[in-house]
Amino acid sequence: MLEALRSDGPSSQAALARRTRLSAATVNNIVKQLRAEGAAEIRPVNGRESVVSLVSSRGAVVSVQVNVASLHAALFDFVHRARYDVMIPFGAGHEGGSPALVTEVVGSLVAEAGLGMADLSGVAVGMQAPIARPTGVVTSWARLQLPRWKDVVVADHLGAELGVPVVADNDANLAALAEWTWGAGQGTDTFLYVLSSEQVGGGLVLGGRIHRGGDGLAGEIGHAVLEPGGPVCFCGNRGCLTTFVAERPILATLEAAAGARASSLADVIAAARGGDPACARVLFEAGRHLGRAFANAAKLVAPSVIAVGGLLGEAGELVFDGLNSSVEISNLRTVAPTLSVQLARLGADATLLGGLAAMMDHLGQGLSVLPEWAKTTSAARSFSN
Ligand SMILES: [Zn+2]
Repeated sequence: MLEALRSDGPSSQAALARRTRLSAATVNNIVKQLRAEGAAEIRPVNGRESVVSLVSSRGAVVSVQVNVASLHAALFDFVHRARYDVMIPFGAGHEGGSPALVTEVVGSLVAEAGLGMADLSGVAVGMQAPIARPTGVVTSWARLQLPRWKDVVVADHLGAELGVPVVADNDANLAALAEWTWGAGQGTDTFLYVLSSEQVGGGLVLGGRIHRGGDGLAGEIGHAVLEPGGPVCFCGNRGCLTTFVAERPILATLEAAAGARASSLADVIAAARGGDPACARVLFEAGRHLGRAFANAAKLVAPSVIAVGGLLGEAGELVFDGLNSSVEISNLRTVAPTLSVQLARLGADATLLGGLAAMMDHLGQGLSVLPEWAKTTSAARSFSN
């Protein structure tokens, strides 16, 4: 029942009975029980029909996003229906923060919300790096960017420090889960999410579960090799997707052509929107590279939806024109005509929301609809330490 409600969203009891092949009486009993536990609610949609939704009305969850250049965390308080955010930019030499900083930030958010640690149901951590399975530590080749996480078993370490359940995953995996739960992938069985901003990551959701693969590398489309003789990548290969579409190579291409005319990917997109032909060209080409990588990935996993998040997704047709014009994508459309490539819907909040979804899942709960109060708050407080 939980699986069905998670993947299909709010559903009528008749639909739940069909989907789960349980009798109407059994479905009714389970719904009653979920409702008594505060895990589901029944809402009328018109005079005769009503739908069952997964809800949460107790406890609080903290979701933390650990990036190379910043940390962002949010506390979701289900009792008072409120969200508290904190954002910490890292200066040079402090890349990736540290486990101790995460512990401190969680404590600070709990205090700010007027709660105690006992009110916290769990903490989710999204790392801007793959997490190796089964060890649970940041993959060795990514530790260069997150030096203070070396040899840290992220979930176990923070769980012991905080005394609450902790789940840890790669940021793009969590974002994929959020987009599957509440965004572009809702209702799909096979969903590929690609986060393309300063760096490139991806996540695969199969049958409602993040697919991590044997070593945790599944969905790492950023390191799919497009050109064996291409530029050297920090992972040790040449010509990975990320060496063409990440922020740094895009800025380097522009600089070689025309001198420094933009200092960030966001600047490049703004300049292209303003009619700068070189900026428009590099974004078009980034789209083509994404298209090539998507076509290769699609042949392996046949997703019904590929959603593009991050700045390149938000650049819209500046990138999608290139993507749709790539030979590989046109070719793919003839063999997989129902594949839909679209813009992700949850924006920069996807990873934090994915942490929330992963923790709800871990707790055996769910949220069929993301409440308004749980969406981005503009009042992200800066943290002074
Ligand atoms: Zn690579």
